[in-house]
Amino acid sequence: MDCLFCKIVNGEIPSQKVYEDKDIFAFKDINPQAPFHVLIIPKEHINSAADIDDNNSKIVAKIFEVASKIAKENNLENGFRIVTNSGEYGCQSVHHLHFHLLSGKQLSEKMC
Ligand code: AMP
Ligand code: ZN
Repeated sequence: MDCLFCKIVNGEIPSQKVYEDKDIFAFKDINPQAPFHVLIIPKEHINSAADIDDNNSKIVAKIFEVASKIAKENNLENGFRIVTNSGEYGCQSVHHLHFHLLSGKQLSEKMC
């Protein structure tokens, strides 16, 4: 499958890795929208949040555990935001489920 984030997971495309375990990979966003901007993804290819169901939803809980761990390790004690874009209206540009972890400054009150 020709998927950018699958290629990042398997090392075909380089990335700045922040975290890895057997199920999850996290790396710096190439075009950061905040001083701290990391993407957390399942290694398994899932298209988007619209494809989460009873068979694969456990990975979402694990991703949030990892987000909390990354936040602690990077001193994000003032807070952070987690965002996932899904589909056309959500402006999803890479069709492999990913969670943006944003911080490092006071974020906007607006989300859209
Ligand atoms: P989204 O628009 O929610 O699908 O987010 C996709 C994100 O992937 C964007 O924030 C991009 O900056 C980021 N991105 C695209 N290509 C790369 C790459 N090679 N390495 C790291 N981040 C990337
Ligand atoms: Zn993929």
